[in-house]
Amino acid sequence: MTAEPYDAIVIGSGQGGTPLSIALAKAGMKTAIVERNYVGGTCVNVGCTPTKTMVASARVAYLASRSADYGVDSGPVTVDMSAVRSRKSKRAKRVLTYKMMAAEPLQKRVHRLLPYA
Ligand SMILES: Cc1cc2nc3c(=O)[nH]c(=O)nc-3n(C[C@H](O)[C@H](O)[C@H](O)COP(=O)(O)OP(=O)(O)OC[C@H]3O[C@@H](n4cnc5c(N)ncnc54)[C@H](O)[C@@H]3O)c2cc1C
Repeated sequence: MTAEPYDAIVIGSGQGGTPLSIALAKAGMKTAIVERNYVGGTCVNVGCTPTKTMVASARVAYLASRSADYGVDSGPVTVDMSAVRSRKSKRAKRVLTYKMMAAEPLQKRVHRLLPYA
């Protein structure tokens, strides 16, 4: 195995690392990004997007449970947690796919080194 030189190596492909690696590549530097866990980082995979999706389900359950106060008969409210989790996973995957597609033309300039730094 031969060592390959880079101008810049970015550790982590989250909110910080991905735009940084693209900016460095755009500036003409031979750039690599290293990710050991979730491509896309915390926010999209296990942080902002998944939590806000589950909070949205909780909000809907809360409003449904108060529907009688608004003169709406919705019947008894139950929460199907496996459906909530499934919606959360699909939503996170969709956001990640969208982000990756949006960045793809630029990311082609960034080498991906997996999985560790
Ligand atoms: C539950 C939760 C909810 C959140 N909600 C929000 C919100 O609503 N709004 C908001 O603005 N922020 C939110 N955040 C915070 C947000 O996720 C972070 O601010 C953001 O992800 C930080 O980006 P980052 O690139 O610094 O780190 P990260 O996104 O964590 O990316 C760092 C990456 O580096 C990788 N890495 C680390 N060490 C190495 C190594 N040695 N080798 C290879 N790879 C490595 C990790 O695997 C990770 O993928 C939330 C966080 C959590 C946990």
